[in-house]
Amino acid sequence: MSDFQHGSIPHGSIPHGTSQQSDLHGLHPESRIVHPPVEEPVGSRPLGVPLHQGHVFAFPDSDALAHAFTGPDHGFLYNRYGNPTVRSLERAVADLEGGSGALATASGMSAINTVLLALLRSGDHVIAQRSLYGGTFAMLADLADRWGVEVTHVGGDDPDEVRAALRPTTRLLHLETVSNPTTRVTDLPALIGAAREAGVLSVVDNTFTTPLLCRPIEHGADVVIHSATKYLGGHSDVLAGVAVFADPDLHRRVWHYANELGAAADPFAAWLALRGMQTLGLRMRRHCESALDLAGRLAAHPAVTAVHHPGLPSHPDHELARRLLPDGQGGVLAFDLAGGREAARTFVGAVRLASLAPSLGGVHTLVLHPASTSHRQLSDEELSAAGISPGTVRVAVGIEHPEDLWSDLSQALAKL
Ligand code: PLP
Repeated sequence: MSDFQHGSIPHGSIPHGTSQQSDLHGLHPESRIVHPPVEEPVGSRPLGVPLHQGHVFAFPDSDALAHAFTGPDHGFLYNRYGNPTVRSLERAVADLEGGSGALATASGMSAINTVLLALLRSGDHVIAQRSLYGGTFAMLADLADRWGVEVTHVGGDDPDEVRAALRPTTRLLHLETVSNPTTRVTDLPALIGAAREAGVLSVVDNTFTTPLLCRPIEHGADVVIHSATKYLGGHSDVLAGVAVFADPDLHRRVWHYANELGAAADPFAAWLALRGMQTLGLRMRRHCESALDLAGRLAAHPAVTAVHHPGLPSHPDHELARRLLPDGQGGVLAFDLAGGREAARTFVGAVRLASLAPSLGGVHTLVLHPASTSHRQLSDEELSAAGISPGTVRVAVGIEHPEDLWSDLSQALAKL
């Protein structure tokens, strides 16, 4: 113990690698095992991103530690403020989206909550799209009910509707690139442009399209949100979110609030998301091609009255999709069954290769009956206002062979 007391280990700078063990030599086993060697490769480099699961970082002096508290790029101190593996995910997504930086969070909802709560105060006004993910819609309703934030909902195609909704207190426009489940495409350049003219920030949830198909910052967005749980992670085995910022000051503001909220992503979740992202290009191409292929075949089926996929020329936003999403129009489609609610419920129970499950963006194909699950709170009139019929089925197309998928969908259609 005397070596330690006399300072053979410089305070706060425990050396890495095997040298640490020799410096600990002479200490009790209970002390040595608390400080195992930290191996770092010498003469080679890891191809995979290292997983830094440990969540406390030691500093040489208090000034260095104090500095790390003050900004997202000032070093790592404690995982709630940042972590090297999580930072790799943040940098990877920021790079793909063309942002200045990003904040990874525990879920997509956590990213949305953190951004909204960091940027709004009571009395502020938000303009939000009508057809939002249910969790986001509920969050905005809660902000209105309990926190005095006012919300106006608009469609996704008319910038004049945004202009007409603007108030002196409007702080934020909240959009989604593609709506769920009817795959309407939002005219991002036009709507964001209308907000920008008034100095209002735009937040775009880009989960459905990923930065490989659409980069909202190129269209003027200030913040881009992802549920990394979906396509970025890609294997339905991780829950995570990311918020990407065009402007570093906005990033810093939201980062400070995220630390108060405790929104941080877990390093292992970030590691899984990063590992999944390495195949994002291959997966997205397959998701998009298979979804368009299945959409075309479904459109020709006698049991189907309408198919919703922006890659189909019959889709109301097809022209916009060709401009905004030239590299692929996404892996989600929906279709309406002539037999209505009962037919849709029979269909989702009859698939064999696909699974009846929520979520999307993973390698497995998933089907869902929105009217009885994700949108069950809506009356038939409200469903119809959202473009959803009682017989609508959503398909989140996975990466299985498209012929096998079509065999599965057609055998389920034959059961109706
Ligand atoms: N945004 C969109 C468009 C979603 O579809 C979802 C989840 O389905 C979320 C956000 C929420 O993401 P998470 O489940 O990771 O919290």
